[in-house]
Amino acid sequence: MDVTSKCLCGSSSFTVRIEQYPIEAHLCHCDTCRHAHGEFAAFHAPWPVPPPESLKTMTGYQSSSSVTRYFCSKCGTQMGDAGAHGHQWTTSTATVDEPEKLFEYKHHIFVPDTKDGGLSDLLPMINGREMRLWRGEKYQSEELPKSWKGAPPAPDPSERLEARCLCGGVKFFITRPDADVGAPIPPREDPDIKKYVSRKGNKWMASNCVCKSCRLASGCDISSWYFVATPFITLEDGAPFRNVFGTGREYCSSENVARVFCSRCGATVLYQNFQRPKMVDISAGILRSKAGARAEDWADWNLGIDYSSEAINASMRDALQQGLSSWGHETG
Ligand SMILES: [Zn+2]
Ligand SMILES: [Zn+2]
Ligand SMILES: [Zn+2]
Ligand SMILES: [Zn+2]
Repeated sequence: MDVTSKCLCGSSSFTVRIEQYPIEAHLCHCDTCRHAHGEFAAFHAPWPVPPPESLKTMTGYQSSSSVTRYFCSKCGTQMGDAGAHGHQWTTSTATVDEPEKLFEYKHHIFVPDTKDGGLSDLLPMINGREMRLWRGEKYQSEELPKSWKGAPPAPDPSERLEARCLCGGVKFFITRPDADVGAPIPPREDPDIKKYVSRKGNKWMASNCVCKSCRLASGCDISSWYFVATPFITLEDGAPFRNVFGTGREYCSSENVARVFCSRCGATVLYQNFQRPKMVDISAGILRSKAGARAEDWADWNLGIDYSSEAINASMRDALQQGLSSWGHETG
């Protein structure tokens, strides 16, 4: 059948013929994928090479000697990676409409890059299938036991958390909610902010979203957000927060919403909803906590899923909900 991949804004798309499916898909947790997508993992599967003219609306970022990542120049959707000097394509599974029919998610690869297990701990099974864990590439590296666990979250006493996309063109710093940054009302007392502050520690809240826009914006079936009040963000040069800075580029996915991605490497960077202007949602995949991908020393993860009923990939959502619930039991 013919399958069309498309970005959030609709200006990047391509159609290829798929003869056989489901196709074996994987979640890549390597540092490069996490920082390039701005998410916990790249959701990837081997795919036919798109017609060359379809790449004209995309920007390529060469992330290694043989791999170039392509994202929509207007909205930032990571469409896929061209490998082997353009002879292979690895597609973002969230850019197509029927992921459950087309893909069989089977592997978590490059898991130890996350230090704490990242999203792999939350998705031990997808669609009733036990996932295989790999130290590096699937079938080409050491297979890790299903019981593999990352290091327990180490305390990170730093006063500032760095956020940085893959290429470094977007970089800023986050301060903890109880820090004195001269905000007019302390976050725990501000009715517009207090629900984004953890009751378990000096941390901001974080959450996973499966809405249609986030899915397309990142090219990932799960998008993960870290909620911070704007006075607690400082740009690299010490300036206060503003939406667009460095290599960031803005795309307004609806009237009240601005999404920012890196125009050089394609990482999703942030989401701002002007109906709650004091807050900004930061892409969890660009956080650089020493404790690991989940940044648990800085983030209190919500055990529910945002826009759960909107999920295109329902079995992925169900797997995540199950994973979050048992993770909640284990971690108390
Ligand atoms: Zn686009
Ligand atoms: Zn990767
Ligand atoms: Zn970048
Ligand atoms: Zn969303």
